[in-house]
Amino acid sequence: MSSAPATSLYHKDNPFPARVTENRLLNKPGSHKETRHIVVNIAGSDLHYKVGDSLGVFSSNRASEVDEILQRLNATGDEPVSPVMLKLPAPISLREALTSRLALAKPTRKIVDTLATKATNEEEKARLATLVAPEGKDQLAGYLEDREYVDLLAEYPSAKLTPQELVDHMRKLMPRLYSIASSSKPHPHEVHLTVAVVRYMTNHRERVGVASSFLADRAQLNTTPVPVFVSDSHFGVPADGATDIIMVGPGTGVAPFRAFMQERIATGAKGRNWLFFGDQHRATDYLYEEEWYAWQAQGALTRADLAFSRDQTLKVYVQDRMRENAAELWSWIKGGAHFYVCGDAKRMAKDVDLALHQIIEERGGLNLTQAADYVKQMKKDKRYQRDVY
Ligand code: NAP
Repeated sequence: MSSAPATSLYHKDNPFPARVTENRLLNKPGSHKETRHIVVNIAGSDLHYKVGDSLGVFSSNRASEVDEILQRLNATGDEPVSPVMLKLPAPISLREALTSRLALAKPTRKIVDTLATKATNEEEKARLATLVAPEGKDQLAGYLEDREYVDLLAEYPSAKLTPQELVDHMRKLMPRLYSIASSSKPHPHEVHLTVAVVRYMTNHRERVGVASSFLADRAQLNTTPVPVFVSDSHFGVPADGATDIIMVGPGTGVAPFRAFMQERIATGAKGRNWLFFGDQHRATDYLYEEEWYAWQAQGALTRADLAFSRDQTLKVYVQDRMRENAAELWSWIKGGAHFYVCGDAKRMAKDVDLALHQIIEERGGLNLTQAADYVKQMKKDKRYQRDVY
């Protein structure tokens, strides 16, 4: 059983300045994905974690984007500002605010209103008037979707904002929570993360996910302080090691299940372990492939059912593998197995939930309501747990 986390000096409001000690691409050459194994060293922090917990990471923005904003504001970065959202006791420099305290993406409608009142150039005024017109609401939403603050400053140079005016429109840069991919039993001083690096283009500019690109590109090994804290979770291995577990974790959803395996091996848990994993291609995207093979060879991983969605014409997903193995799955569940899901909340977790209901209904000989009640009871008994995002 996992022990409760001891209290630590470090928490969300006082994060520990950790260091990244390993940053390894998990996908093989030719993959369309960039998923990284990141090792964060927490030695000396007195931070404790249990499997299922997440690591909160405070990131910082790209220097190139901050520099462009400063240039467009005609500022040096030394200007003192007190961004309204941050409620600071004393001003900080504009550069610090833009680098590590404020989000540079997802501009609000309010800044477009402000630009509309400040623009002096006729052509810019006309474009802004169209955007802020009541009938342009949908157009504005689409327009903002493709832009960050720097785009707006670039597109409306005649609307001169002061540093304080700009930062007052911005939201706080929030920490990003990553499901921990290691167990503290074998790794007391390390936290492992499985990070999908987000990179895309909009409005002819390269965009990045702030936290994932910070860990992938900007956190220099053993050098850059990475402020972190542990976020406690209800998600975790069964208290009784003899309990079987079924883990459904496509993509980065696999992270906590690597931790579950490390924990169950370290504690000598005798229950069986069944993994459902999926990603785009088997040749390039079977994350931690060697570890799963080794665990299977040593008998620690009872089964691994894999769904590589893009290796054939028709998509195959983890829930298809569940349905193909419905009889066996039901026999595990009936025997008391815990069922875990981690990963995409929008589509995958919903589809897996539906498949679970159908399997219980069909294999358990239950009607729709009885199957729903069965699943509800599993949730109440903490036999059905989800960590979805
Ligand atoms: P992922 O994109 O979730 O994909 C993993 C596997 O799940 C792929 O084989 C994918 O297939 C498959 N999949 C797609 N729809 C599914 C469904 N309805 N049911 C079951 N499986 C389904 O993997 P990831 O590496 O964790 O994430 C990659 C990117 O997606 C990252 O940029 C991440 O930030 C983002 N993401 C965002 C959210 C969110 O914002 N809520 C959640 C999860 C992931 P196909 O792609 O071939 O269809």
